[in-house]
Amino acid sequence: MSNSDGKSHCMLTTKPERVVDYKIVLLGETSVGKSSILERLQHDTFNDSKSSTIGAAFISKKVIKNETDLINLQIWDTAGQERFHNLTPLYYRNSNAAIIVFDLTNLESFKKAEYWIGELNEYIEADGGDMKIILVGNKLDLLENGECRYEEEIRSFLENHKEIAQFFRASAKNNIMIREIFEYITDGIDASMFNKFLEDSHNKGDLIDLNFNVGTSAASSCQC
Ligand code: GDP
Ligand code: MG
Repeated sequence: MSNSDGKSHCMLTTKPERVVDYKIVLLGETSVGKSSILERLQHDTFNDSKSSTIGAAFISKKVIKNETDLINLQIWDTAGQERFHNLTPLYYRNSNAAIIVFDLTNLESFKKAEYWIGELNEYIEADGGDMKIILVGNKLDLLENGECRYEEEIRSFLENHKEIAQFFRASAKNNIMIREIFEYITDGIDASMFNKFLEDSHNKGDLIDLNFNVGTSAASSCQC
């Protein structure tokens, strides 16, 4: 379904049958575009002159799938602590998915993505938990024929890291693949994670207006 602005809409007309809470964290070097990706998802906007994120924040987004599944996404963005190498495992603890972002024009940021994936692997191993890892090369719009200068490094890294569920080349600026990243994640949520929808625990009587692009209730909170 799509409306006049070209966005796909999926209105909730019936009561959902199943619900799941799902936490996603964004990780990556400063300035790779993590906050811009979130802003694109949340408001469908892009700001060229944005200063770094101040204060840890998350957004809540309700997504309805197949008319019966309600997904409560909680997507965490860093407060720029990554700049000071000061991001603790508390940030990604209990996450169901991690999106590691790098800048396709910046090799150092790719090295940092490798570092983050190593950190997550260690955490997952120690914790015994399950976390889906998605790698995103952002700022695709800055590349001339879509090829970056370290294509070979990316290819061999992906080959050696089968734990990476999916790799996307994206652009928050030109709105390329942003929506697809989150659709990929929500499409992949295992059926066993869902619980029966209990009206009482989900604002009985509230009219829920849900679709992938608009069903966002913004929230922010201190991480401490
Ligand atoms: P963060 O530190 O990872 O949260 O990065 P920001 O979202 O704050 O973005 C850092 C800078 O990169 C800002 O000046 C953004 O405007 C710019 N930026 C983010 N995404 C893109 C993109 O897809 N293309 C281009 N050309 N610039 C981007
Ligand atoms: Mg930021």
